[in-house]
Amino acid sequence: MKKINKELLSNLTVLYVEDEDMIREEVTYFLNRNIPNFHTAKNGEEGYELFHKINPDLIITDIQMPKMNGIDMLKKINKKSVPVIVTTAYSDLDYFLKAIELQVNKFVIKPIDLMQLIYDIQDCFLTNHLRDQLFEKDNLLEIVDENVLLSITDKHGVIIDASSAFSQFVGYDKTELIGNKHSLLRHEDTPDEFYENMWNQIHSGKVFSSEIKNRKKDGEVYWANLTITPAFNNGEIVNFTAIRQDITDNKKLQLLSIEDDLTKLYNRRHFNEILEKEIRRIKRENINLSLLSLDIDHFKKYNDTYGHPKGDEILKQVAKALKESTSRATDYVFRVGGEEFCIIFSGLDIEDSMTYAKQIVKNIENLKIEHVCNSASEYVTISAGLIVQNSKYIEDEEELYKASDKALYKAKVNGRNQVYLSNKSK
Ligand code: GH3
Ligand code: MG
Ligand code: MG
Repeated sequence: MKKINKELLSNLTVLYVEDEDMIREEVTYFLNRNIPNFHTAKNGEEGYELFHKINPDLIITDIQMPKMNGIDMLKKINKKSVPVIVTTAYSDLDYFLKAIELQVNKFVIKPIDLMQLIYDIQDCFLTNHLRDQLFEKDNLLEIVDENVLLSITDKHGVIIDASSAFSQFVGYDKTELIGNKHSLLRHEDTPDEFYENMWNQIHSGKVFSSEIKNRKKDGEVYWANLTITPAFNNGEIVNFTAIRQDITDNKKLQLLSIEDDLTKLYNRRHFNEILEKEIRRIKRENINLSLLSLDIDHFKKYNDTYGHPKGDEILKQVAKALKESTSRATDYVFRVGGEEFCIIFSGLDIEDSMTYAKQIVKNIENLKIEHVCNSASEYVTISAGLIVQNSKYIEDEEELYKASDKALYKAKVNGRNQVYLSNKSK
């Protein structure tokens, strides 16, 4: 049984266009009782003008009318968002077909059944409204499904749903994901504590956010910014929604960026990597490793005297000179801090290493860059701490670096612009 939706009707503004006075008056008399904002026009031209004045939610129009027919009026109004009911007689077949093209919502055949017209108005409006809502929801879900790396787990961590985007991204079918745990994607580098911490956090009802390293089905590593949000029902956690942003490219770039911006030398991170790698290599080859720590003398005073930008220039020049002072494939130069550098070289005994290091220090002074506040020279100079050890004595990179740094300190105390050999050299 259909019902009149008084609330809906009373909130509608309706434009009714009909040239036959009798029909127009009868329809108006009946509808106006339920639809207070019911406006009438006698032909298409009037209808068109009134449309712009009242901005109706719905148009009801006859087709055959003088001055401007219903079809032309609708074309001119050209508002697809406003639902249209066309009242027509069988003889209007041609117009009828055109009205179909205009995507008219309903056709009411004359003589008009007034009660049916009310239901038609309601239907056309409700379905339109509903369709909009559904469209928005469907559309939103579709966008999410196709674009967001999303998965939902139950409170035990079992995956109960996943977006198509996520399934595609990790290379597992949804059927493979659902029923499984995220440990499917686990990377061996991610420690147990990470997961313990995550579970503690989300089980206590908090949102968890972190970078995570995972593996796709084909073994490829990916990095993501992961956010897990608990969902509650009556205060109890029912499930967890996990969304991720793929940050693999950034991460790779970051890992690839082993260069110091200012000097274009290798940076600190790369120093740690190379030192470790070189220790392994010289242990295989059973040769000496030399580590030289360098620091520009009175550089603070240089900045104070010549300004920071000039200081930057000096850092570049010193870096260039250090680079040019080393030539073997296994010589590595790094900027490890502000005005601190390191050079790793290998295959030289203590004496040759000292000679090599002294030449490097000399090369800096030979640049003849004025530095009036330098206690060691009238030019920019550098101090160096050297440690040389045979592979069989090397314990770890940490010890090696500490020893060279300690030697550097001695070189400073001894008057700068010189190399000091660590007593741990052997
Ligand atoms: P010392 O001879 O004992 O090494 O004295 P110092 O002044 O060189 O050493 P200190 O560590 O006291 O100061 C280092 C200075 O290096 C301070 C800082 O302003 C400067 N510095 C660090 N990084 C940069 C940089 O990127 N650009 C410039 N222009 N200066 C830098
Ligand atoms: Mg320093
Ligand atoms: Mg210094």
